[in-house]
Amino acid sequence: SYGLPQASAPPSPSKRRPGEPRIWVCVRKRPLTSAEERRKETDVVTSAGQSCVLQESRAAVDLTHYKLQHRFFFDHVFGEACSNEEVYLRTAQPLVQHMLQGGSATCFAYGQTGAGKTHTMLGCSPVGPSQSRGRGELGLYSLAVKDLFSHLSSSPALTRLTVFVSFFEIYCGQLYDLLDHRNRLFAREDGCGNVHIAGLCHKRVESVDSLLQVISRGTEHRSQGSSGVNPVSSRSHALLQIQLRGAGQSVHGRMWFVDLAGSERASDSGDPDRRSRLEGAEINQSLLALKECIRSLDQEQGHTPFRQSKLTQVLKDSFVGDSMTCMIANISPGHSSTEHTLNTLRYADRVKELKGQKGQRKGRRVKNISESPKLRTLSQNRSSGT
Ligand code: ADP
Ligand code: MG
Repeated sequence: SYGLPQASAPPSPSKRRPGEPRIWVCVRKRPLTSAEERRKETDVVTSAGQSCVLQESRAAVDLTHYKLQHRFFFDHVFGEACSNEEVYLRTAQPLVQHMLQGGSATCFAYGQTGAGKTHTMLGCSPVGPSQSRGRGELGLYSLAVKDLFSHLSSSPALTRLTVFVSFFEIYCGQLYDLLDHRNRLFAREDGCGNVHIAGLCHKRVESVDSLLQVISRGTEHRSQGSSGVNPVSSRSHALLQIQLRGAGQSVHGRMWFVDLAGSERASDSGDPDRRSRLEGAEINQSLLALKECIRSLDQEQGHTPFRQSKLTQVLKDSFVGDSMTCMIANISPGHSSTEHTLNTLRYADRVKELKGQKGQRKGRRVKNISESPKLRTLSQNRSSGT
């Protein structure tokens, strides 16, 4: 009824009809954590199908309590009960199919720190911090590799292909190889406009277990860079690349999984610490460039500003040609995260907003309950000021 696509998974470029979007944008709401439950956090997000409603409560100056509702529509919204497997089926799986056919694809996890990006991408081990929830779960990286191996072994045409992974992070505009002692890497663009990462380590994996081993070693390197109270993972983008290689090591297809830096960092401009400010500015720049680059996929003519950040430069391939792109915007349900959740929903909404379709999918405020005209003005100012 809102002119939304009825597809239940990202459309493959070969089947896409003219004008159909190339970008698949989903929201994933995680459950309240047990710590949040102990703090009596209330759940302010309602999710159903393609809609996501954020109920914002604010105590106004005159202590009149009023509420705002923001309703957004996405390709899909995953509720707190969804497993990684279900998320995989509706996001990365069609991208894996595309890679098997020789294409390139990228899957992003966006959101504030603690919203569930790493849980989605990497999963959680049964002995990890989510043990209290009682289940170990594979993440999208592993589910994709598992899927790949089952295709490679079942299809005679594919048995000669091999799987390689590389894993690195981008911190303050610099690249560090997580599979090679945080070796500093350099991205270079050749005369044909192709971007190469010189010296990047590619490891062959032959099973999901060997992938998990490679990644867990890489993740150790990631945390070694952490010095302050903030985990380094919130300040850097982690990029996992899976390559399918054919005869003579030629690349048959490739896929990126990107666990982005915590989006709240982009607005930490008031931080007194100079290093944090620089990190924040860098993250802000890269997330803005990313949004513009993804949007440009659906805007036939127009400029793709991939040179505006190291992140988008490295991912240049993802923004040209017949690539497939999917973004999972992760959100926390708790009321104390309202501001960040709203920012995440707005970001994801703008990634998806298409030229000539303005208004169709814009987040709209549905209702303002019990507010005086003065408060309404106040709330509108606040709302548009973010
Ligand atoms: P981020 O990587 O975005 O900072 P994490 O993935 O580390 O966030 O998640 C923060 C916490 O929430 C972790 O303890 C994680 O286990 C838990 N969590 C996240 N998503 C889920 C989920 N879908 N189901 C259960 N627990 C989750
Ligand atoms: Mg994380």
